[in-house]
Amino acid sequence: MIDLRSDTLTRPTPGMRAALAAAEVGDDVYGEDATLNAFQQRVAALLGHEAGLFTPSGSMANLLGVWTLVAPGQEVVCDVRAHIARAEMGAHAALHGLTMRTWDSADGIADAARIADLITPDAGPYLVSTAAVALENTHNFGGGTVQPLDVLAGISAVCRDAGVGLHLDGARLWNAHVVTGVPLVEYGRLFDTVSVCFSKGLGAPVGSMLVGSAEAIARARVQRKRLGGGMRQAGILAAAAEYALDHQLSRLVEDHAAAAGFAVEVAAAAPGAVDLAAVQTNIVVLDTGSSPAAEVVGRARDAGVLLSAVGPRTVRAVTHLDVTAEDCVAAGRVVGGLLGAS
Ligand SMILES: *Cc1c(COP(=O)(O)O)cnc(C)c1O
Repeated sequence: MIDLRSDTLTRPTPGMRAALAAAEVGDDVYGEDATLNAFQQRVAALLGHEAGLFTPSGSMANLLGVWTLVAPGQEVVCDVRAHIARAEMGAHAALHGLTMRTWDSADGIADAARIADLITPDAGPYLVSTAAVALENTHNFGGGTVQPLDVLAGISAVCRDAGVGLHLDGARLWNAHVVTGVPLVEYGRLFDTVSVCFSKGLGAPVGSMLVGSAEAIARARVQRKRLGGGMRQAGILAAAAEYALDHQLSRLVEDHAAAAGFAVEVAAAAPGAVDLAAVQTNIVVLDTGSSPAAEVVGRARDAGVLLSAVGPRTVRAVTHLDVTAEDCVAAGRVVGGLLGAS
C-alpha cells in the first residue's frame, strides 16, 4: 500500500527515537521539564514571539490561540474551508462560546479587502463583534496552497488598524517557509498568535505549539490545564519535535517534489482532475468529476493507493517522510488511470 492519506502518518525515524530516549525530563505541570522549556523558548524566538506553549495537538493550539483573542459571544472570521471551522469538532463554539463567520476563496488564498469588508469590530448592541481573524498557511483543504507574504502583511495591517486579533493556523507553516524561503520570523511577527505542528510533515509522533506574548501564553497555559492538556514529562515529545526541526525540515522539499511528481502523472492521464499550478507543497487535491469521492477512494485502495475524501467530489493525496518519490509517481499513474477512465 502507498499511503497518501495524510502527512500525520509518519513514524519516528531511528535518529528521532534515539533523541527522545536521551531527553532530560521533568514535570512540566510544575514547569520543570528543561528540554521542553528550552524548546518552547526556541520555537517562540524562531517565530518572533515572547513565549511558547507545547500542546498535544494542533487543534488544541488553535483552540487556545483563538481563545486568547476572542471572548464568549464574540466571533472569529476565517475561510469557509479553514481547519478551525471544519475539522476541530466545533470546539471553539462548544467549549469557548464563540461564533464564526467565513469567507469563500479560490484555493484558500485570503484577500485583505474582503476581510476588511467582513469584519465588524466593536459592533455595539446589534451585531456580533469580530474579535479575531484566523488564517491558515499553508491552506490544507485549499490544497496545501501558500499565502503570499504581501497578502498576509495586508491582512495584518487591516486587523491592527481595526483592533482585531490575528491568529495563524501554521500547522504546515514549515512547508510554506521551505517553498518561499521567507524566514519564519517574518511570517510570525504578522500575527498575535501562531500555532505550528510537529506531527505533520516534520515527522514527530505528537505535538504542536502555540506562540504569542508572554501574557497570552501564561493565560493559555492555565486554560490548557483546564482542558486536560497539562502534560508531565513532555520533554520526551519535545525532544522528538526538536529532532524533527533540526533534521527533517529542509527535506520537506522532497515531499513537495514528490507531490508534483504524483500530480504530473495524474494530469497526464486525467488532465481535468488536477490543477498543476495549485500544487505548491505536499498536498494534491483532485477533482473526481462525475465519480463520487468515496468511490474513487475505494477503487484506489483496491489498486494499492490510500487517499482521503475531503469533499463529495474531491480527494486529497499528501506526500510525506514515509513514501518515496518513486512510490508517488507509481501512485499517480494508478490514480490517473482511475480518473482518466471514469
Ligand atoms: C492537522 C492540522 C491541524 C491540527 O490537527 P491535529 O490533528 O489536532 O494536530 C490544524 N490545522 C491544520 C490546517 C491542519 O492541517
